[in-house]
Amino acid sequence: MEQIIFYFLIFCIGTLFGSFFTLAVYRLPLHQDITHKRSYCPNCNHKLGFWDMIPILSYLALRGKCRYCKEKIRIRYLLLEILTGTIFLLFAMSLNFSFETVATLETSKLVYLLVGLLYFAGLIIIAGIDKERFTIQKSVILYETILITGYMIYLYIVEKANIHRYVISLLLLITLMIIDNKYLKKKIECPYVVEILELSIIMAIFSYPIGYIITVFLTLVAIGIKNILTKFRQNNKTSYSKKIPIGFYLTTFNIITIIVINWVACRW
Ligand SMILES: [Zn+2]
Repeated sequence: MEQIIFYFLIFCIGTLFGSFFTLAVYRLPLHQDITHKRSYCPNCNHKLGFWDMIPILSYLALRGKCRYCKEKIRIRYLLLEILTGTIFLLFAMSLNFSFETVATLETSKLVYLLVGLLYFAGLIIIAGIDKERFTIQKSVILYETILITGYMIYLYIVEKANIHRYVISLLLLITLMIIDNKYLKKKIECPYVVEILELSIIMAIFSYPIGYIITVFLTLVAIGIKNILTKFRQNNKTSYSKKIPIGFYLTTFNIITIIVINWVACRW
C-alpha cells in the first residue's frame, strides 16, 4: 500500500513537471520568460487561475477548452503531462525506489534518481521543441551540460568514482559549445548537426556505454523507417515534411533505454 502511495506521488510530481514543460516548449523558442510570468491562454491571453493549472484534471474538467474563450486546448498538453508522469514513475520503479529507500537514505541511489529526473526533464523539453520546430534549444543543452558536470564532480569527490573516461567527452562538449556560441554571436545559424553532436555527447556521458549504443542504433533505425515511409507517402502524392527531428528520436530512445537498463540491472 505504501508503495502505491509513493508511486502515485512520483506520478503526480511528474505531471506537475509535465505541465511546466508544455509551457517551456511553447515559450523557450519565443524567448519568453519561463519562471516569472504566469501561465496564460495563448489564444485570448487571459491569465490562468489556480484551478486551470492542475495537471490532467483541469484539462478533463474543462473538457479540453479554455475557460475564458472556449478555444480548444491542444491535446498534446494533456499527453505531455501524462507522459512525463509516466516517465518519472517508470524511472523510480526501475530503481526499485520506495519510502524505505528514501528513509534509509541510500545517498548514491537518491542522487542518481534526482539527477536522472532532472536529466529527463531537459530531454523532454528538447524532444518537444525539436518535434515542433526542428531545432535543439541551446539553453536546454547548456542546462544539461551544467547538470552532468555537477554530477561528475559529485561522483568524483563524494563517491570517489573513476570519471576519467568522461573527462575527454566533457572537454569535447565544452569546446563544441564555445564554438557554437561564437557562431551564435556572429548571428550565423549554427548547423543542426553541431547541436545533435552536443546532445549525443551529453547522452554518451550520462547513459551507460551499452545504453548509448542502443540509443544511437534505435535512432538510426527510426530515421530509416521514417525515410521509407516518407517515400511511400510521396508516391501517394500527399505533401509531407522531409525534415527529420533527430533530437526527438535520440531523446525518446535514450529515456526508454536508460529506464530498461536500470530495470534489468536492479532485478538480476
Ligand atoms: Zn483562452
